[in-house]
Amino acid sequence: MDSLLCAVTVLKILVINTGSSSIKYQLLDMKEQQVLVSGLAEKIGETTSILTHKKILANKKNRTKIKEERICNHRDGLIQITGLLVDPEYGAIRDKSEISAIGHRIVHGGEAFISPTIITEKVIEAIKKNIPLAPLHNSPNLTGIEVAMSIFPNSRHAAVFDTAFHQTIPPKAFLYALPYDLYKKERIRRYGFHGTSHSYVAERCADYLNRPLKELNLITIHLGNGASIAAVKNGECIDTSMGMTPLAGLVMGTRCGDLDPAIPLFLADHLKMSLKEIDRLLNKESGLKGICGANDMREVIEKKNKGDNLAKTAMEIYCYRIKKYIGAYFAVLGDLDALIFTAGIGENAPDIRKGCCSGLIRLGIEIDNTKNYQPGKGLREISPSAGEVKVLIIPTNEELQIALETRKVTACWSKGSGFAENPNL
Ligand code: ADP
Repeated sequence: MDSLLCAVTVLKILVINTGSSSIKYQLLDMKEQQVLVSGLAEKIGETTSILTHKKILANKKNRTKIKEERICNHRDGLIQITGLLVDPEYGAIRDKSEISAIGHRIVHGGEAFISPTIITEKVIEAIKKNIPLAPLHNSPNLTGIEVAMSIFPNSRHAAVFDTAFHQTIPPKAFLYALPYDLYKKERIRRYGFHGTSHSYVAERCADYLNRPLKELNLITIHLGNGASIAAVKNGECIDTSMGMTPLAGLVMGTRCGDLDPAIPLFLADHLKMSLKEIDRLLNKESGLKGICGANDMREVIEKKNKGDNLAKTAMEIYCYRIKKYIGAYFAVLGDLDALIFTAGIGENAPDIRKGCCSGLIRLGIEIDNTKNYQPGKGLREISPSAGEVKVLIIPTNEELQIALETRKVTACWSKGSGFAENPNL
């Protein structure tokens, strides 16, 4: 069948991101690439759960409904969400059969998934095998798949992995210098995360520059509550800062990023901290929060502007770490077409962008101060017109990317066709 003909049949896609006690969702109209409704069910399983649902109106305003009542489990949560999707006042469809496909965000695809894929029994088994690599994420992601498949048996379901974009990283960049058996037997290696965001902004950059992605060398910098950076050579990721887990790399809101690996041993040996305590310290009490007491960058900037020295230091450490990675990735790429800032901090914090790029003019990386500080939304260029490397702000849209990928893999697939089957499984 003609692929264009296939594509037009996939009109409405529901994107689901299931956490241990939450379901985040968006229903998108793929013809216009518009969000129709979005929402979040939180505190699932607790005495009082919260379901915040927004219908996006034509004037870009929202009609919001907040339900505060118990949601016993994920199944109950998705049933309530489905009720709102078809609600005459708050919904956007008349019947759930209008949802042609469902895109599931899956955190860890391990080495089995190099691209988004149609969900089959084999795929579910492979995601299960990756549970030890991301127990806090893959288990609830799987629950989301099982529940959604039972509630939407006639929709096509696709899995889109945070790790897939990074599967092109070569062994010299993904192997740790540990006994090789730990890689072969326990799969300990760099995987990288935020792949959906890195791939989305890389594609938008290619659109903006009007050049094929496979001709571009890029550094993409995702700075949200979590943060990571990726080196993209000829359109493929060749290195990224997060590792086997999202704890490695850049300084984050509450995560430490790169660390001397002997420090956790010291904490255990010298301070007699338990594994659980160390895990909490590194994931929840470190990063910006550990240095200056605030994990939200807006708060850190406010503190710094009021003269708080530790907040100033936290921002300096934050930018310094990013700058070191930019230098390293420039070295491995050999040449650079564009440097891209994205996510909450990357899109909204000019001081941080300036701090990361200062002194890099010998690499061709320069920021125009006026452009950088000009408030704006959408894709914008902040390098001088004659700058060798384009420095761009590109708002990320992980839900749209999941929907686009879902459309791609589900458009021409029919049960038994084998289309989009993963050769690694
Ligand atoms: P998540 O990883 O949860 O999706 P976001 O991409 O929303 O996170 O980014 C959250 C971060 O963005 C927070 O540290 C927040 O302070 C920061 N942020 C949002 N708006 C601004 C702003 N105007 N100035 C500085 N930082 C901002």
